[in-house]
Amino acid sequence: MIKDSLNKFIKEKLNEILSKNQLREVITSHRLSRMKTKRNNSKLISFSCNDYLGLSQNLIIKKVAIQAVKKYGVGSGASRLITGNNPLYSELERKLASVKEAEAACVFGSGFLANIGVIPSLMGKGDIIFVDEFSHASTFLGIRLSNAYFKTFNHNNMHDLKRKIKFYRNRYRNCLILTEGVFSMDGDLAPLEEVSILAKDSDSWLMVDDAHGFGVVGKGKGCSNLYSPKPEIDIHMGTLSKAIGSYGGFVCGSRNLIRLIVNRARSQIYTTGLPPSVIAASLAAINLIEKNSKISEIPLENAKLFSSLVNLPEPKSPIVPVFLKSEKKVLEASKKLENAGFLVGAIRPPTVPKNSSRLRITFSASHTKHQVRELASEIINLNFIK
Ligand SMILES: *Cc1c(COP(=O)(O)O)cnc(C)c1O
Repeated sequence: MIKDSLNKFIKEKLNEILSKNQLREVITSHRLSRMKTKRNNSKLISFSCNDYLGLSQNLIIKKVAIQAVKKYGVGSGASRLITGNNPLYSELERKLASVKEAEAACVFGSGFLANIGVIPSLMGKGDIIFVDEFSHASTFLGIRLSNAYFKTFNHNNMHDLKRKIKFYRNRYRNCLILTEGVFSMDGDLAPLEEVSILAKDSDSWLMVDDAHGFGVVGKGKGCSNLYSPKPEIDIHMGTLSKAIGSYGGFVCGSRNLIRLIVNRARSQIYTTGLPPSVIAASLAAINLIEKNSKISEIPLENAKLFSSLVNLPEPKSPIVPVFLKSEKKVLEASKKLENAGFLVGAIRPPTVPKNSSRLRITFSASHTKHQVRELASEIINLNFIK
């Protein structure tokens, strides 16, 4: 039996969400190879996974993970600071640091946990954070947990950031600028060179969340690798759950930055270490990308092919949004695509701003050109793009 007051609260909240067409349900999806997904008894081609390289289904990596289970067991048994720091962790952290050309790295349970742990480890009351308005929910949560003062700046608008730094920076002790390599719901890139110059000039620390760039952009090394010389980024954050195909998050930076994070990030200290098989899979995936960096270019090639077929601007990443504005329209569109055999996510508020609901189409190295063309003709048939 549930208490009346709790029941009433739940019903009110659910009705509020439902009335805005924002209700979400988890639907059982059995992912198969080559971006196929079994859902509601039908087989769909998924254009909504972040498994950009198809590595979550890679046979060699699956074998490596199974071997790690045999060697180390299924769980890690404790937090990393107790006995959960499996030997594979240091191997993975060395690898990440070398790929990101940083002194050191620290692996977290997920990208979400990395953001909510790292930001409060560095910032507190009396400090100021400038954050791109389209940043991920975990970034905003990290900011709130830090108790620092924060200001959002207009998406990728360096003029606005500069203006806000000028107005606020000197009233606070330390300053952190937060942006993303590839924006998760828009697929565009941050102007990292310009941000890094603004950061340098104002003695602000720069943290870049490259969850959607690592493994797919800049020969798989992430957005910072698109430039030469590389922009000065103090804190690189990324995930092992997207292009890497496994699970976990990480930060890279100076040796002492990482030592401090290990000592302060509560989402690292007070949580159990990752299962060894997951770490082994991440390591195998990064090695695979390093040996075969061509694979990291295919998702963008597919996105470009699609965009040219449907007459959208050339994408900068494997994420292509199709804006339909209203929640209702985007739900209908996603349903129509599902009926035609394609799984494409309907992204609605509060994930994205009001009146900017969209189909979010993601491309993978596992898609065939034929599948990409089929999706394009379906999108043209349905006449979503005006
Ligand atoms: C997915 C994502 C995260 C969270 O990473 P997980 O490993 O899935 O927890 C953080 N930031 C951005 C920009 C993301 O897209």
